[in-house]
Amino acid sequence: MDNHLSQKFEEIVGKENVLASEVDRHSYSYDAAVLPPKLPALAVRPETPEALGRVVKTCNELGLPLTVRGSGTNLSGGTIPSPGGVVALTGALNKIIEINEADMYAVVQTGVVTAKFATEVARRGLFYPPDPGSQAVSTIGGNVAENAGGLRGLKYGVTKDYVMGLSLYDVDGELVKTGSRTVKCVTGMNLHGLMVGSEGTLGVFNEIILKLVPPPKASKAMMAVFDDLGKASETVAAIIAAKIVPATLEYMDDFTIKTVEDFAHAGLPTDAKALLLIEVDGHPAQVEEEASEVEAICKRVGATRIHVATDAAERNKVWEARRAALSALARVRPTTVLEDATVPRSQIPAMVGALEKIAAKFKLTIGTFGHAGDGNLHPTILTDKRDHEEWKRVEAAIDEIFDVALSLGGTLSGEHGIGTAKSKYMAKEVGMGSILYARKLKKALDPKGILNPGKITGE
Ligand SMILES: Cc1cc2nc3c(=O)[nH]c(=O)nc-3n(C[C@H](O)[C@H](O)[C@H](O)COP(=O)(O)OP(=O)(O)OC[C@H]3O[C@@H](n4cnc5c(N)ncnc54)[C@H](O)[C@@H]3O)c2cc1C
Repeated sequence: MDNHLSQKFEEIVGKENVLASEVDRHSYSYDAAVLPPKLPALAVRPETPEALGRVVKTCNELGLPLTVRGSGTNLSGGTIPSPGGVVALTGALNKIIEINEADMYAVVQTGVVTAKFATEVARRGLFYPPDPGSQAVSTIGGNVAENAGGLRGLKYGVTKDYVMGLSLYDVDGELVKTGSRTVKCVTGMNLHGLMVGSEGTLGVFNEIILKLVPPPKASKAMMAVFDDLGKASETVAAIIAAKIVPATLEYMDDFTIKTVEDFAHAGLPTDAKALLLIEVDGHPAQVEEEASEVEAICKRVGATRIHVATDAAERNKVWEARRAALSALARVRPTTVLEDATVPRSQIPAMVGALEKIAAKFKLTIGTFGHAGDGNLHPTILTDKRDHEEWKRVEAAIDEIFDVALSLGGTLSGEHGIGTAKSKYMAKEVGMGSILYARKLKKALDPKGILNPGKITGE
């Protein structure tokens, strides 16, 4: 290990916050994506915003690649560092600076954990809707950098819809502020909009201003059971076509139902071919009306039975089971590949049908669940990367999943980002023109290319 380099960062963050042992380097060499790890030279843990800014500046001066890491839960290789680079951990920058009830916004440091923030906000009688399945550990900075979505995306939108502004460190370590605490603000360019989804490639977030909303007054959750995949996906399209926007409209196929039930014991019907988990919320009268309409649509299209949660405990149990879907599936085989190709909602039946055919064609186990209401399914391939022949079939299946999604007017990623996992597919969706434009932007803001190199555009 380069002692000189360690010393340089020790001067900024303190000796105890430079993590350069073999164990440390391995610990920060990977994330939740199924991609080969890469060893950084060291990781640093700034405890103050000023130290974070100095870390960025020093990396730029030394031409060292810098990867900022929240909790490392991203699924696209966004925090796999460049070999020999620096990883900046944001865990110590975890203060909720302000929750303003009168003006309904909050200011947080980048490393605040999503669920902790949402709980704090709820205690003040307000609501922060973005709820990625990883919310118990993911950070707000990571959510902004990935533009994370969640179960409530259908009605409430995703992280980008809540970012009112932020401050960031540019590569020279200068603090840049964008956006404001006001509901409306058109002072200057919408630079915070540019930062959302930038995956650590354009600047390093410090504080983030987030919009809060009033919580819904009432909600009703139900589970619709189907003996046919097609009928379940047609029901999704029918609910949307009826101009009802549930807070949540989630799908699980039979394989996922059985696997989750085995893991979470939530009382899911293991004889079902597919499930829809639906929640409507809002004013009590509207909730009653929409819940009956949804129930009627489910019956009309072909639900074999519908179970409406009678109390909060029952409701929570079902949602906890849904949130456990990935963890449950991940127990089945050594390698779990979770995709998030997304299609226009009306194309959900076509996508579900195509996924069944792809699983059969490539002789693979694919469990599918996800945010069907916003067209964002998670086909999850359960495999073993050490089996080279099977892995080739997995790669071919992934290619085909993306091709089908794009042919249906969809997109490569609804919420997990591009990172390095999907950068090679980008041109298929956006064209080279868009990639070159983004590269020009990156070059202007980060001339030495030190900020999370290789992510999104491949540079
Ligand atoms: C079990 C599980 C369930 C999940 N469910 C969902 C889901 O429902 N919806 C969803 O959208 N995603 C989901 N994800 C993916 C993941 O949790 C999200 O992408 C999340 O936003 C990542 O947050 P993080 O703090 O772990 O960020 P990290 O993984 O640490 O980082 C993600 C990206 O953000 C960048 N970054 C982090 N902090 C900063 C900063 N201060 N400045 C600039 N860039 C920064 C990193 O460099 C990286 O590119 C899930 C993942 C798992 C493992």
